[in-house]
Amino acid sequence: MEKGHCQCQEISYSFARENVISAHHCHCKDCQRSTGSGKATIIYVPKKHLTIQGELKYFESKGSMGMHIKRGFCQNCGSGILSYAKELPMILFLKAGTLIDSSWVEIKSSYFSDSAQAWNKVDDDIKSFKGNPDIISNIKSVMKAL
Ligand SMILES: [Zn+2]
Ligand SMILES: [Zn+2]
Repeated sequence: MEKGHCQCQEISYSFARENVISAHHCHCKDCQRSTGSGKATIIYVPKKHLTIQGELKYFESKGSMGMHIKRGFCQNCGSGILSYAKELPMILFLKAGTLIDSSWVEIKSSYFSDSAQAWNKVDDDIKSFKGNPDIISNIKSVMKAL
């Protein structure tokens, strides 16, 4: 099992690597702000395959595609753990940096290349999207994984 936790370890989680759908970089402004960095690196995991210990606090904002994004974080130390779209609650977007071992994570594509910062450039070696089309165009393959 893969395991991760927040900085104070009040929140921890686990899942099996075989249940991962895909992993992505997101350079959108909201991810930049919520991570305090140039991008968020997220792993799609079906909700039913992720076990979480501890209580996350959620902040909701409206995403660029009109969906409502809920970002879950530890109320004690503030580490961002996961997010999800309210309209698609069965898929969680886990923040890769909270994993104990993230060396195995393979990034499939980058989102929101148009808002990437010069100091945190989009990785040229992987597919990238100006906005966030993946979740829509791949919705069928995502659904199959649930
Ligand atoms: Zn914490
Ligand atoms: Zn984002």
